Amino acid sequence: MSAALRARAFSRGFTSRAVDGFVGAVGNTPLIHLKKLSEKTGCTILGKAEFQNPGGSVKDRAALGVIQDAEKRGLLKPGGTVVEGTAGNTGIGLAHVCRSKGYKCVIFMPNTQSQEKIDLLRMLGAEVYPVPAVAYENPKNYNHQARDFAAQLPNAIWTDQFDNTANAQAHYVSTGPEIWEQTRGKLDGFVCATGTGGTLAGAGRALKEKSGGRTQVWLADPPGSVLYSYVTSGGKLNERKGSSITEGIGQGRITNNLGTIVNDLSGALHIPDEKSIEMIYDLLDTEGLYLGASSALNVVAAAELAQKLGPGSTVATILCDGAYRYQSRLFSKAWLKTKGLYDVIPEHLKKYVVL
Ligand code: PMP
Repeated sequence: MSAALRARAFSRGFTSRAVDGFVGAVGNTPLIHLKKLSEKTGCTILGKAEFQNPGGSVKDRAALGVIQDAEKRGLLKPGGTVVEGTAGNTGIGLAHVCRSKGYKCVIFMPNTQSQEKIDLLRMLGAEVYPVPAVAYENPKNYNHQARDFAAQLPNAIWTDQFDNTANAQAHYVSTGPEIWEQTRGKLDGFVCATGTGGTLAGAGRALKEKSGGRTQVWLADPPGSVLYSYVTSGGKLNERKGSSITEGIGQGRITNNLGTIVNDLSGALHIPDEKSIEMIYDLLDTEGLYLGASSALNVVAAAELAQKLGPGSTVATILCDGAYRYQSRLFSKAWLKTKGLYDVIPEHLKKYVVL
């Protein structure tokens, strides 16, 4: 990172103007140079600090994007209701945006989710319906219930984060261009995992276009997802097998959002949970960053991609959210042991497992 860029990043908090409410505070997150990992790989590894969004995650951008799009198209009118099926961060982003704009928010989520997330959504004023966790093909899936609920309510919309491409568009106009500007166009690779596919598709497409195709866009995938095999087998969609401790990522189908980039990806990386867990602790120890498992998986992938692209290459990824929403799991010895992951944590990092 250049001295000028460092100086600008440092002074950011002192020079930026006041923004307009919650909505104005979404985006324009710092790009963090991960110094230790960059030194270790001989490359430049950069993480977009999406955990600094006002609702705490990368999904604030998508939540704002789908609501603004519905307003623009006249689908959502003052006093209306926003309905979504979500296991976490999108719902939290929507609940914040709805409060700040005066809409009602209704969330359907699988009843396997943590009580903390349900409590937080309710504290943010959302009406929450935990429903049995059944497959997408089942009409009782939380997404279909959200769609059906919105359909029978006047002045209500189902924001449909998986297949509504206003989600990817939000990243196309903000996340991607921000990364391009923050790297001054010196970017060899961009990689991240996907849930809806919005971040990868939107930011990835913007970076490919701005670089004239020079920036490679790669997908990172956890166990239990079909996307790695889809990309590396040339488009074969297998059934989901296995599972992962990462939350909010991994997918069993090609959503509309992912569909806008999946055939233009340069490749995919499969990242096992063992590597993601170790990276959570490593980022804490070496960079002082307290991040969730999807962020850690993304950083592992960024380092692997940088090494593939060669010495001196620059790769950016997404630091999706903080560890706060998962700490009763990720920092619990008993929980890690039940997942067979405690013993993969190197001895010098075990001091962080305090719960
Ligand atoms: N990380 C976390 C923690 C998330 O909640 C999500 C969204 N489900 C993602 C990554 C993936 O983002 P996207 O939906 O844009 O693919």
